[in-house]
Amino acid sequence: MIQKEMLQYQQIELQLNKIEKELRQNSAFTDRKRFKALRVESEEKISKMDDQAKALRAQLAVAQTTLSGIAKIVEEHMKEIADIEDEDELKYMTKRLEKHLQKLDATEKEIAKIISEGEKLSRAFDEINKKLPAILNGYKKAKEDFDKATEAVKPQVAELKAKQRALEKVVDAEQLDMYKKLAEVQKGRVFVPLKDGNRCGGCMMEIFNVGNSDLQTKGYVRCENCGRIIYQG
Ligand SMILES: [Zn+2]
Repeated sequence: MIQKEMLQYQQIELQLNKIEKELRQNSAFTDRKRFKALRVESEEKISKMDDQAKALRAQLAVAQTTLSGIAKIVEEHMKEIADIEDEDELKYMTKRLEKHLQKLDATEKEIAKIISEGEKLSRAFDEINKKLPAILNGYKKAKEDFDKATEAVKPQVAELKAKQRALEKVVDAEQLDMYKKLAEVQKGRVFVPLKDGNRCGGCMMEIFNVGNSDLQTKGYVRCENCGRIIYQG
């Protein structure tokens, strides 16, 4: 026999599950989840951009040092060239100067590229920063609404839980244990009544040899198909 109190306990559990499910279907709950994901995504992007900015600054520093080094060499070469009279030496030095001027040009281009990447990064950063307040506000509002919805059902939940605690004191420990274990894996009811004299009230599967089963001796039998406990209703 499954105790009447055990079935009452199950009934309350189903009510509690329903409240929980409704809370999760509440738009505030889904909004809160969505805004939180957006917030995390934005924070991750910002942190990635910080790293990129740091790398660009380091690249820029290196390029600027290179640039000033070459500029100095170019300046020296130019001074030297002014004093050269030998034609071969002049040719040689002019060639060297040209090479350095090319390097100078390449480094300037590299610097321009770094600066342009920095500007692109800065625009992307502004873009995120523009969107961020709406995301943070959305999250805050959804969280408040969800907290309110949770708060609203609290008295009812507390009352139902108090009833369950009272029932736990009178319910057979073995049945309660069986219920709790099965409730973890079973969706909805664990205890279902016998239907049509030989069917599981949960999955409607016919019970083999009902007259000779635990149903006669214990007053309940486990459904071999769905795993629920069928009791003589
Ligand atoms: Zn079944």
